[in-house]
Amino acid sequence: MFAWSTHQLTEYFTAVNASVDEVVAIAVAVERATEMLEAEAGAVVFGDVVQGAWGFGADVPVKGLLAVAQVPGTLTVPGVGDLYAVPSGLGAALEGALVVARLEMPFEPEERQMLQGMAQVLGVALRSIRVLRDERTLRADREREATERLILLEQAQNRQRLVETLLTIQRAISNRKPLPEILDAVTSGTAALLEGAPVALILAEGGNGRRLSVASTSGADGYSLADPDSSHTEAREAMATAKVIIRPVNPHDPSRGMVIAIPVRVTGELAGSLVAQLPDAADQREQLAAFAQQVSLALTDARTVEAVRETHHDPVTGLPNRSLFLKIFNRVLASRQAATEPTSVLFIDLDRFKAVNDSLGHEAGDQLLGAVAGRIRACVRASDTTARLGGDEFAVLLHNSPVEAAASVGERVIAAIREPFRVQERDIFIGASVGVAITRAATANSDTLLSNADLAMYRAKKEGPGKVVVYEPHMHTEALNYLSLRTDLQRALQEGEFRLQYQPLVRLDTGEIAGVEALVRWHSPARGLVSPVDFIPIAEESGLIIELGQWVLETSAAQVAAWRRVSPDLTLNVNVSGIQLVHPRFAANVTRALAVAGLPSSAVTLELTESVLMSDPGAAVASLASLRELGVHLSIDDFGTGYSSLAYLRELPVDELKIDRAFIARAELTGEDLALVRTIVELGHILGLRVVAEGIENAAQLEALRRLGCSYGQGFHLCRPMNSADLPQALLRGSLTAPNSIHP
Ligand code: C2E
Ligand code: MG
Ligand code: MG
Repeated sequence: MFAWSTHQLTEYFTAVNASVDEVVAIAVAVERATEMLEAEAGAVVFGDVVQGAWGFGADVPVKGLLAVAQVPGTLTVPGVGDLYAVPSGLGAALEGALVVARLEMPFEPEERQMLQGMAQVLGVALRSIRVLRDERTLRADREREATERLILLEQAQNRQRLVETLLTIQRAISNRKPLPEILDAVTSGTAALLEGAPVALILAEGGNGRRLSVASTSGADGYSLADPDSSHTEAREAMATAKVIIRPVNPHDPSRGMVIAIPVRVTGELAGSLVAQLPDAADQREQLAAFAQQVSLALTDARTVEAVRETHHDPVTGLPNRSLFLKIFNRVLASRQAATEPTSVLFIDLDRFKAVNDSLGHEAGDQLLGAVAGRIRACVRASDTTARLGGDEFAVLLHNSPVEAAASVGERVIAAIREPFRVQERDIFIGASVGVAITRAATANSDTLLSNADLAMYRAKKEGPGKVVVYEPHMHTEALNYLSLRTDLQRALQEGEFRLQYQPLVRLDTGEIAGVEALVRWHSPARGLVSPVDFIPIAEESGLIIELGQWVLETSAAQVAAWRRVSPDLTLNVNVSGIQLVHPRFAANVTRALAVAGLPSSAVTLELTESVLMSDPGAAVASLASLRELGVHLSIDDFGTGYSSLAYLRELPVDELKIDRAFIARAELTGEDLALVRTIVELGHILGLRVVAEGIENAAQLEALRRLGCSYGQGFHLCRPMNSADLPQALLRGSLTAPNSIHP
């Protein structure tokens, strides 16, 4: 019969999670899994690749392993015989399986479950190793990009200086017309000057061999310079020698006139030639040279504009970036017919983009952004300006557009983005929220308008996905209000605006109430009920959490001490912020609070979130150890939200583990999700911890957790947090009779 040692299992978790390298993690996992399941051999199989094969000797039966990685079966190993082999998947994001093979006995269901748990742990470890590795390469890429951008910026600054000089010389010729028009203007101007003589502008294309092509022609027909054979020889020669070339059209017939070719440069480099056919070239040479000069300037200008465009554009989407957007915006505001034309701006923020970027990687993220940019542009007029402000934020400037029109453009954008995107052969669903700001005032300021649209977008986000909200002045007031929250919070403690609610911790096997968790509430006269999720971070920032935390501790300790006169075994859980934990007088404050309340320290559990403990595990171990000397218990709250934790768990002096709600929400689903929760529950038990499942919301979850052997639970399905006066007496006597009760 299968009997696994707790020691081995703990070792497995720790060893696999301590590996910094995929190969090592796999080797460690295979070796230990094989050993623990008393198997002969094992391996990990990804697609058609076998890794970390162990126990097969020199001849790894690759074909056989690939087969049993899909379905359990017989694995024939030369020299050993036929083995029973079972696979277990490494989890959804990894197309791989951990396989073990045993000679004597088939695997029992418990052993397969065990294997599943071990495969899951390996999967989690591999995923976190990959995330770390990806982050490292990403960082290297970013550094390289930053250097490249610096070089580009320097080049752009040089070009910018050039452009400024050129723009003054060239206003007449360019007038910001498209390049072909400018070139046509040059050739037709030349032709006119030369009394209708044929003129061609021949330019070298980039790349090897520098093929020549005719960019523009003008003037009389008859002898066509557009014919490569007739003009390219001279053009090529003018380019090659950087000299004016003059040659008879036909050496045997002087009456046919001369061909003259003048080199054209772009940013100093020879790029082509202006070619004309004339009766007598000598006279016209100067004018032609002057025109060639103009072509050079126009081409240089065009290319410079292009380069500047690149640095003012977002490389991912090709849209203008924030600084160019604001420039355009300012120009529009300045040139507007005062106070008549409304100008509006849309601030667009994508919903769920971060999730896609995190799960599919940043290449997919970039593709998606490019596609989003295209859809937004398809929703607006060509004359409107679309920009990417950064991250997943876009903006659109709508000219002469009243508020209804702007809002309906916003709706259109949202509808367009809601349609699935095809990225890397997957359908991806995201959404968008849109804020609109509009002005008619002649004095409007682009920064203010954009930030008003931003405020409106925040409001849209709050109202739910896929909303358009038009900015109204009160939103500005609300933003200011948010800032004053801090001030109010400071006063709230003196004014006695905080209250406590208590949520029972229930023994899942008997339905008995073991204790209560104190949860703080702020009843603000101005704001109503404010959630701790909103004000605890602000209290932490301002340091108020020290005083507030002490109040919570003192008040809840006194309350539980009073309840214990009826229910002597009732215990208290109190949430403690990381700021409190590192405060030098924290231990002394806890001691004092409990002494005043007359509550024994053994009845108290302090809850710390996993993220606080993991941000500096070394320091956490030290402060936890000193707290534990007081006799209080310690708990890890929201457990499972950080990956690296399993390996440290053994070193932290804690007594309780609260599995985060997110896991419990999935616990009623598939076997795979269940295996992960099971792993945590078993791990907790192996380490001798009290395991509490948080956020049990329905009977199915409750049932699943009881089956997994989880001993304690908390959640709306069992009992919501309640005011001290409402906590029914029955509850305090230790049985749940509320509608959501458990029937053991
Ligand atoms: P937490 O310590 O993990 O507390 C559990 C939270 O989940 C509570 O939210 C509780 O009302 C909620 N909850 C309980 N059962 C269910 C359920 O079945 N479904 C759902 N969806 N939620 C459930 P609450 O009271 O809003 O507190 C949020 C967080 O604020 C707490 O999370 C804790 O981290 C923090 N907090 C609350 N009171 C204090 C305090 O006195 N001091 C400190 N530092 N933090 C506190
Ligand atoms: Mg808690
Ligand atoms: Mg929690």
